[in-house]
Amino acid sequence: MELTLTAEQIAADESTSTSADLDDIFTKAAEFTPLSKEEGLRLMQIPLHSDDCYRLMALANRISREQFGNKGENHLHIGLNVEPCPLDCLFCSLTHKAGIFTEKIDFPEEQIIAWAKYGEEQGADGLNLMTTGTYPFSRLLELGRILSREVSVPLIANTRDISHAEGEALLAAGFVGAYHAVRLGEGRDTPLNRNKRIATIGVLRDVGLRWMNCVEPVGPEHSAEELIELMFLARDYGATYSGVMRRINFPGSPMTKYGMITELEMARLVAISRLIMGNVPKAHCTHEPHSASLLTGANLFFPEVGSSPRDGQCDTGKGRGLGIATCRQMLQEMNWNTELPSNCYR
Ligand code: SF4
Repeated sequence: MELTLTAEQIAADESTSTSADLDDIFTKAAEFTPLSKEEGLRLMQIPLHSDDCYRLMALANRISREQFGNKGENHLHIGLNVEPCPLDCLFCSLTHKAGIFTEKIDFPEEQIIAWAKYGEEQGADGLNLMTTGTYPFSRLLELGRILSREVSVPLIANTRDISHAEGEALLAAGFVGAYHAVRLGEGRDTPLNRNKRIATIGVLRDVGLRWMNCVEPVGPEHSAEELIELMFLARDYGATYSGVMRRINFPGSPMTKYGMITELEMARLVAISRLIMGNVPKAHCTHEPHSASLLTGANLFFPEVGSSPRDGQCDTGKGRGLGIATCRQMLQEMNWNTELPSNCYR
């Protein structure tokens, strides 16, 4: 019987020799010599399934395991509210335009405290409190003060652009950092101003809040240049962590026409961003949780409860969101130690 090879297998066969020009880039990355954007773009040309791709992934894996002392992290995302958000970012299921949610829901305080306590009991390394675009900032501060009394897990805010005074207020309310991404297509797929988003990152740095980030939400339509730009922004502004999250196309999403990248493609991008981040980060995230990237430099997952911009369920803990126990098991299966203290707050 004659065996025929698939196009992918043929492509892999053609990529079994390694490229000498990558040796210098890999050596620089291993020594934490900052890479140039041109070198980053060269990494983006490495095809999946090639020997070079496995060299890239192996190096990213080794760097993370050594630099992070094999610590595996779980930072619990708590979406505080649901609303048909008037900002209408194209990739988000919580938008007014998507029409999935027609009423505002502020999850009750008791529910938010219960989620935070669940995070603490399950050994979460951080609690990321996410709001939609027009959520009252004063309420976020109030919840920060309440949760600071109720649990000892570090609090991270994930909210709109802020001023210096608001940054100081977050610190005073008990937050130690903020997740704040300049999203892919910012200003094109969102109504938000890219420069204002970057200015907020400067605010975080100025007031002493840790900046948490991810290159997101990645789809097949994003160019190598766009992706590399955001990876270098994360390195240059000193992100505590900055891995890669893919876009999830919720049913009816206007981005459905572009499709979604696979977990394997995400793992390749996680490895590239890991080399670019050098010795800057304290961890390297990926989302949604999957095993492939745990072999290519990622060591941080976001289990999820409450609202999520990727879900049609009000409480993603009952929908797409994975729980802490599941995330912990995935990390442990790939020999990441979840029992060690977090590196993110040192
Ligand atoms: S991503 Fe945030 S700001 Fe944009 S529509 Fe969704 S909730 Fe609103």
